[in-house]
Amino acid sequence: MRRIYLDNAATTAVSPRVLEAMLPYFTQAHGNASSIHGFGREAKRAVETARRQVMKALNAAAPQEVYFTAGGTESDNWAIKGAALARQGGHIITTAIEHHAVLHTCQWLENQGFSVTYLPVDEFGRVAAAQVEKALREDTILVSVMAANNEVGTIQPVAEIGALCRERGVLFHTDAVQAVGAMPIDVQAMKIDLLSLSGHKIHGPKGAGALYVRKGVKLDAFIHGGAQERGFRAGTENVPAIVGLGTAIEDACENLAENAAHMTALRQRLIDGLMTRISGTRLNGHPTERLPGNANLSFDRVEGEALLLRLDLMGVAGSSGSACTSGTLDPSHVLMALGLTQAQANGALRLTIGTDTTAEEIDAVLDILPPIVEDLRRMQR
Ligand SMILES: *Cc1c(COP(=O)(O)O)cnc(C)c1O
Repeated sequence: MRRIYLDNAATTAVSPRVLEAMLPYFTQAHGNASSIHGFGREAKRAVETARRQVMKALNAAAPQEVYFTAGGTESDNWAIKGAALARQGGHIITTAIEHHAVLHTCQWLENQGFSVTYLPVDEFGRVAAAQVEKALREDTILVSVMAANNEVGTIQPVAEIGALCRERGVLFHTDAVQAVGAMPIDVQAMKIDLLSLSGHKIHGPKGAGALYVRKGVKLDAFIHGGAQERGFRAGTENVPAIVGLGTAIEDACENLAENAAHMTALRQRLIDGLMTRISGTRLNGHPTERLPGNANLSFDRVEGEALLLRLDLMGVAGSSGSACTSGTLDPSHVLMALGLTQAQANGALRLTIGTDTTAEEIDAVLDILPPIVEDLRRMQR
């Protein structure tokens, strides 16, 4: 059976170029980057090359501002806990639609005595810089607003929020896991202090991520142990994964405009096609300020989970809500924050296009999906 993968917000395939770049570091170049012999130096060189690739992709000022982690979740945890614990108290501002890596970290900090404001979003999932401004307090230490949402694809006014925070002397963290490779990111122009990214969302390996920490920002160490990552994130470097991340981010940024145009065209073809073919369909998220590859739709009187199972039988892979919450019966916190009813939220289907998705695949889905919705609605009656 033909399989169509439209779940690129959950994870992407490692690209052939990334795999090829990684392979030598499992075998002949297997050294420990901390060793002083030739094997070690070779590994160290590879790690530092990757660090420069990430630096360049973000327009960071220096390679020392880039720290490698085990993924987006770890980067989010480190940014928020590291900033909070270095200040030993205070107030944090975030939004109601963050990834659980941010939300659950903030909730944990609340239990440790920090106070947190969760800003609401509008019906499109946008938060305004003015809302952040209003929420600022004397003791606010950190603002964490994601660059783009993983479920509905809404892009936030990061540069505006960054400028505001810089002006007020408050740290600004952004979870850019979905944004990197999908839209231009410039940590200097956007006045970002801390930025999380992940390898596996951009055709790199799973378990590889990075945290950008602007020079001068005080952050507590995250993993205690050896001197790796200048003592802030101890543990022997996962050299192949770091090499893969570096290659992936270089590829993503070099081809950004082209990839974004390709994905935007296919996303719009998919959204327009489904809206015209299926009555009672609503688009979740922002009509224009959205990630190139994100289509999130709710179909009246249809369960997203049932739809997913039927699609899977036809070889089409998608997601309902976020993958992290599917398996539980709770409707997505993001869709609820956008003001959807529980039924609308449960009827949501997220199809996310990748750089390798084709127009033929989209057309196939436009043929496959409408009869399934029709059938599920018939069964409802
Ligand atoms: C996937 C994702 C994460 C988590 O990254 P991992 O590398 O899977 O830990 C965090 N934030 C957002 C917005 C994501 O999409």
